[in-house]
Amino acid sequence: MTATVLTGKELAAAIRAEAATRAAELTAAGHPPQLAVVTATADESSAWYVRSIARAAEKTGLVCEIHDLGPQAEPGAVRERLEQLSADKAVHGLMLQTPLPPGTTLEELASAIAFEKDVDGANPLSLGRLASGLPAFAPATAEAVVALLDHYKVPLSGRQAVVVGRSTVVGKPAAHLLLDRDATVTVCHSRTADLAAVTRTAEVLVAAVGRTHLITAEHVRPGAVVIDVGTNPTADGGLTGDVAPEVAELAGALTPVPGGVGPVTTALLLRHTVLAADRAG
Ligand code: NAP
Repeated sequence: MTATVLTGKELAAAIRAEAATRAAELTAAGHPPQLAVVTATADESSAWYVRSIARAAEKTGLVCEIHDLGPQAEPGAVRERLEQLSADKAVHGLMLQTPLPPGTTLEELASAIAFEKDVDGANPLSLGRLASGLPAFAPATAEAVVALLDHYKVPLSGRQAVVVGRSTVVGKPAAHLLLDRDATVTVCHSRTADLAAVTRTAEVLVAAVGRTHLITAEHVRPGAVVIDVGTNPTADGGLTGDVAPEVAELAGALTPVPGGVGPVTTALLLRHTVLAADRAG
């Protein structure tokens, strides 16, 4: 058996098209939706990701401003910029790119992002609300996992889901979203004893680790739906996932890297920004 490839391109295009329609209406009414991205790193893959968000935003009719504070930026300066942008009425969506300068954490700085502009669900308030079942923007990557499962009509209610990774940006929010959909969710991490024994119980397996090809055939139940969130740089300048190629021989369905979760994540950031602009009136 060879796994069905769950590409994200078609879903991403549909989300962007819907966002573009509303963005054009808001722009015509004199309120162009604007996304501001704050970065403070020299990391090349991060810069590539930010440029790809800006390109997608412009194509969709959103304004995207990149605030590059440089890798030497003090945490206080990053926080101050987030506070300024949170107060700026022209800005509707605000995100903080990682990695961050040493001596701080995403949670610490992201609490300066106004909740209503927190389109990547980074403010701890957003995660707390998500965990409490209250309205909030979910981190776009975590939402992309469930959006892809929905798009391909993968049933979740009552099914065993295993998430590998417990970060606040991907693993934990993905687990909450799956739980909200009535899956029975197990979360694994670096201290999980016998990872393969746990992941083999998964009907839906989400790999959000950041380790090239950590998930091999021994980790996967035959027929499982596997969502590969990992984006690991390759020697030739490309990207590869957390799931080894051999898994395609026994999984029922598998997302590609690149071209799976990534494009949906970017499209959802734009959707969130348009929604935030809509709510701002
Ligand atoms: P992270 O903050 O580094 O978290 C990684 C998680 O994996 C941690 O919970 C860690 O466990 C766990 N882990 C590490 N080694 C493990 C092992 N051997 N066995 C089991 N669990 C292990 O990473 P992240 O920010 O969540 O990102 C995860 C991946 O997603 C990365 O490749 C990142 O580039 C990618 N990503 C993709 C998108 C997209 O749009 N496609 C967006 C964001 C991130 P501990 O908690 O115990 O340390």
